[in-house]
Amino acid sequence: MLTLSELHEEINRCTRCDLAKYRTKAVPGEGSENAEVMFIGEAPGWHEDQQGRPFVGPAGQFLEQLLTSISFQRGQVYITNVIKSRPPGNRDPLPGEVLACRYWLERQIELIHPRMIVTLGRYAMAMFFPGKSISKIHGTTQKRDGIIYYAMYHPAAALHQQSLRRTIEEDMLKIPSLLTEAKSIIEADTQPKQLNMFEV
Ligand code: SF4
Repeated sequence: MLTLSELHEEINRCTRCDLAKYRTKAVPGEGSENAEVMFIGEAPGWHEDQQGRPFVGPAGQFLEQLLTSISFQRGQVYITNVIKSRPPGNRDPLPGEVLACRYWLERQIELIHPRMIVTLGRYAMAMFFPGKSISKIHGTTQKRDGIIYYAMYHPAAALHQQSLRRTIEEDMLKIPSLLTEAKSIIEADTQPKQLNMFEV
């Protein structure tokens, strides 16, 4: 199996979809190979495309504040997006682009094998909670194969809609206890299983 940095290098060279033509830099992801919590957002924006790093713009600053609120440091989690190359003009990703880039997200989850996956926004949510509405399921979990999947609004939502800020902050505060729960699930589950990460 590849190391995380080898996987990032492959993503940096990826031409699996047309977004490769428009990006400045691919944005594979960032954080610990041993992360217990993986955050998955939507797609790189302008700042991320310039730097090749996820969540470095205003939404990233809010995500760092949220991590600090639960005494987590950015380097101890893993942060990535559903789409690794910026869609032109920050348009919504196309279904074919999501499908093409899902290959990399699967490799990242297999390699890091987090105990908890936190989806940020509706695109990541749709991969793990298909057919659901973010307004109904944010702050709730699903448990599959020893991983807890947890849905949250995207931090950028708080920048556009101030009323969501408190909701996002409250949902973030639940993560430490959910992580403790996730660890106990893994310890109780002595039978290794084939990962079935995606519902769709
Ligand atoms: S968006 Fe994903 S699949 Fe498309 S070129 Fe970028 S890394 Fe490759």
